[in-house]
Amino acid sequence: STPIKSSAASDVYKRQSLKGLNRNQFESAMMKILRYRLKTVGKFKVYCTQSTFYMEPEEEDVDMDLAFDRVRTVFGLAALSRAVVCEKDFDTICRTAEEYLGDSLHGIKTFKVEARRSDKTYPMTSPELMRELGAYLLGLHNYLRVDVKNPQFKVIVEIRDYGAYIHGPKIPGEGGLPVGTSGRALNMLSGGIDSPVAAYRMAKRGLALDHIHFASPPYTSERAKLKVKALAQKITPYTGSSNLFVVPYTKPQEYIRDNAPDVLFTVLMRRSMMRIANRIATRQGCEALITGESLAQVASQTVKALQCTDAAQDLPILRPLIGMDKTEIIETSRHIGTYETSILPYEDCCTIFTPPHPKIRPELSEILEAEAGMPGLAELEAEAAEATERIRLRITDDVEFEG
Ligand code: ATP
Ligand code: MG
Repeated sequence: STPIKSSAASDVYKRQSLKGLNRNQFESAMMKILRYRLKTVGKFKVYCTQSTFYMEPEEEDVDMDLAFDRVRTVFGLAALSRAVVCEKDFDTICRTAEEYLGDSLHGIKTFKVEARRSDKTYPMTSPELMRELGAYLLGLHNYLRVDVKNPQFKVIVEIRDYGAYIHGPKIPGEGGLPVGTSGRALNMLSGGIDSPVAAYRMAKRGLALDHIHFASPPYTSERAKLKVKALAQKITPYTGSSNLFVVPYTKPQEYIRDNAPDVLFTVLMRRSMMRIANRIATRQGCEALITGESLAQVASQTVKALQCTDAAQDLPILRPLIGMDKTEIIETSRHIGTYETSILPYEDCCTIFTPPHPKIRPELSEILEAEAGMPGLAELEAEAAEATERIRLRITDDVEFEG
């Protein structure tokens, strides 16, 4: 149950930022992201003082629950809370604190009041405010005890120039760095559990990203593609708005199947995908590729196979899940809300034509030899890249897919 009350137009969001990174860069990136997130919710004043970001509605009837949802998934924020603003006279502060937070005080045993003043002309000192407001609340909730060191609940009052701010409890933020401050990458998105988690992990480190998906109709269905689109859409609260590039991959894939030793098929295909991804990445200004690979999860994810995949093109391949167990990956996929969609059974182009016994320790030399025997592949890859479809995903769009 949430102890936060939403009273429209007088709510404020307070968000504590992480330090590190160039401070100005960080703050202006953050403000830009927060403004963008709130643009379609209503008119907001967004500003930052002392590494704290404030978002205040500037019109009546703003949906503050929606606004809060929009900003709580933004990377770069350590904690956030909602506040109510009222007149600065002490009686009003008392009444407002009870109205706004009284419900939250039920069912707990210990609390404390914290007070801060940036308006130094205010007639009461911070310790006075703490004591008096504490006494007022104790009078109404006589089961409570003050615990200064380790309270179950903190009532925070801040006296600022144009009003008193009364804060609800802090919620932990997502942490990480604001998306876009580390550059841009292209995430290889399948319909599985891993790759949306990989995107989340890298966006958390400040990468803006687009997704690329390889589809092989008629071996893979339109529904499979819609599932991938739904996954990309579901993580836009973390990644921000992004593009999903869908590559028609049937021809290169059939060509590899028909012209190479089948034990090498998977690695050859993955190299081919990387080359196409490289083309799209370069076109989009992406400086790295991301995959959901995890060491030894499948035959194509052994160190040897990864070496062969890496050698196919020259962008760095980021593999944030490389050292994670499936159970850990699943935990994150539940956290970001992709798990239920990911486990829907749709075919992926990576699982069609797969040989029964793929080579687990392929040598790069034999891979290059096999590719020398496929003179038509480069042209098919160029055509596939050329025919790639672009789907725009905005954080304001709804997820349309129902499985
Ligand atoms: P996932 O759960 O993400 O599907 P996986 O464990 O099934 O991963 P693979 O199928 O071997 O592993 O794929 C490894 C990685 O290759 C994926 O995490 C993803 O980044 C990429 N990949 C796989 N299939 C596709 C595809 N059809 N389009 C784009 N990228 C893909
Ligand atoms: Mg997969």
